[in-house]
Amino acid sequence: MYFCAGRAGSECEFQMYYPPFPLIDIEMQKLVAYEQLVSERIICRRCVGLTNPSNVDDGRFDSTEIGPWSKWQSNLNASLMVVGQDWGDVRYFTKHAGADVPGNPTNMALRELIGLLGINVSEPGCVNPSNVAFFTNAVLCLKGGGLQADVENDWFANCGSFLRQQVEIVAPRVLVCLGEKAYRGIAKEFAFAPGSFRKAVDSPIGVRLPNGTIAFARYHCGKRVQNKHRTLDRQREDWRRLAQFL
Ligand code: SF4
Repeated sequence: MYFCAGRAGSECEFQMYYPPFPLIDIEMQKLVAYEQLVSERIICRRCVGLTNPSNVDDGRFDSTEIGPWSKWQSNLNASLMVVGQDWGDVRYFTKHAGADVPGNPTNMALRELIGLLGINVSEPGCVNPSNVAFFTNAVLCLKGGGLQADVENDWFANCGSFLRQQVEIVAPRVLVCLGEKAYRGIAKEFAFAPGSFRKAVDSPIGVRLPNGTIAFARYHCGKRVQNKHRTLDRQREDWRRLAQFL
């Protein structure tokens, strides 16, 4: 099922994707579709070399979200969705009880960048969290060997249908692909040619997906990428250009 990325009742060119129901029913349909997808993720064992969160310590740190990053931001009606490469490894997941850590520098940088769009994402674990965006990963399960361990192409291919369905359910206006592998995962799943990553980041218009969502490539905002590929100042400029699409 598709949900349109425009406003309900607007003159959206993709309005044909709207089911003929009031907004409350659309939200309910999204929830039902999302819960079904989560239940499929929980039992999925497709990837050799990855561990499903449901299979770590008998699932005690797993959740009712599609993946660990969605525990931070999981608004199914968000206008902004961010997809990263993968969340982390089993050791980190266990050590931090399956959740993002307050004060993590990459997360802090991401909060700042999103804040430039007027969207206030609260810190992970804060007492009164704001749930104003949707965060997910192109690979939903956990690798071994440390946070910087390699990710295999097969894992992106295997998990692609989960990613596509999340985009179709949330139907954000703007989809930010954080890092080249996340961007290529989206390109493969939605069958468009990604071209060079740098050119994709510089694109002023992004790529419009069949449901009206516009996908953009952005550099990962971790320190290593800031130092080697795109300074935080340049990344701020990149993110500011998204405001007109929200
Ligand atoms: S990463 Fe995705 S496809 Fe692979 S086992 Fe996990 S849920 Fe299944």
